[in-house]
Amino acid sequence: MAEPGSTDAPIRFNRPALVGRELEYIRDSIESGRTSAGGPYSAKAADIIMEHTGAEDVLLTTSCTSALELSALMLDLEPGDTVVVPSFTFTTTALAFARQGARLLFCDIEERTLGLDPQHLATLLDESVRAVVVVHYAGVGCDIEGVRTVLAGWPDIALIEDNAHGFLGTWRDEPLGSLGRFATQSFHETKNIVCGEGGALLLNDAADVDRARVLYDKGTNRRAFMLGQVDKYSWMDTGSSFGLSDTLAAYLLGQLERATEIQASRRDVHGWYDRRLSPHADDLGFEVAHPPPDRRSAYHMFYVLLPDNAVRNRVLETLQRAGIGAVFHYVPLHSSDGGRKFAARPTKCPVTTDISGRLLRLPFYNDLTEAEVDRVSDTFLTAVTQAMQESA
Ligand SMILES: *Cc1c(COP(=O)(O)O)cnc(C)c1O
Repeated sequence: MAEPGSTDAPIRFNRPALVGRELEYIRDSIESGRTSAGGPYSAKAADIIMEHTGAEDVLLTTSCTSALELSALMLDLEPGDTVVVPSFTFTTTALAFARQGARLLFCDIEERTLGLDPQHLATLLDESVRAVVVVHYAGVGCDIEGVRTVLAGWPDIALIEDNAHGFLGTWRDEPLGSLGRFATQSFHETKNIVCGEGGALLLNDAADVDRARVLYDKGTNRRAFMLGQVDKYSWMDTGSSFGLSDTLAAYLLGQLERATEIQASRRDVHGWYDRRLSPHADDLGFEVAHPPPDRRSAYHMFYVLLPDNAVRNRVLETLQRAGIGAVFHYVPLHSSDGGRKFAARPTKCPVTTDISGRLLRLPFYNDLTEAEVDRVSDTFLTAVTQAMQESA
């Protein structure tokens, strides 16, 4: 292992950075004694998210997972109901709905954006389907037009965006997170905007706001009471304790105030990788994704697709041995034990299986330097050249 501080110091996969007034706000939150959910920092953070996305209301949650669970509760799922989810996603995109009693229909992805494949989606729909969940993978909008066309004949099916990667990305100038009835955000330490663990549920339909507030407030009408709309505060409906601590909202506000700068840094890092690697892609047989021209990426990550699984695994090993924190994901959900347990029926997701075996994510965070990107890129190109020779 190289000496820390030498040019060969390890480069981590992810490193959250302080970008603004986070520490000052956290200190103030604790000193003020208002640290539970629904305090002043939460209100300010939610306002910024609303400004960027145009949501009718924003509920800060303990995670993206809990925001997905709250959206599942809002659907009042009944036995026999199903929810369509991508197979190529993080576990809780699916688990949140399975936990609420839905059976899952795993949908394949399309090669261009690694988002939900509308053609496969069309073959999955029937009267049992209550919702379709999309992911804007890597922060690039999925084929929303294709999904909307398929859903046009099914007005009762809710479209839900798991927008964990997509905050500040756009699809045809519309913010990601504004396209579904519900959208969920993640502020986990690995995401673009962080507060350790946190998330948000974006409500894009005004008709959902009152009930969502009750479910969010442990099934009570606490909010209506606080607003003076009712004279007593009592148990009304199902729900849970979804709210983010105001101290974490203080951390989040420090980040959100600098969201545009964070995104600009991430766009730079993405651009450096692109310029270093794309010219070699055809020769070496790997692919670098470029967003379709009608979408602005949220720059959540930088990934490449290697020609096959054996080359991907060799390259990954070489990078890790060189102290470079490259990783892969997702293990397809449709063929996982949990996925099989909660599936309504088996479905075929060949693109998911193929992509999952070939995808490699390179270190990516706001203050990764151009010199570090150069070093990762050089090591990657050498590793691919070697791996291709070995497999020839
Ligand atoms: C990170 C992530 C989640 C989970 O977010 P948490 O805030 O950790 O619950 C869900 N879906 C996707 C696509 C993610 O990347």
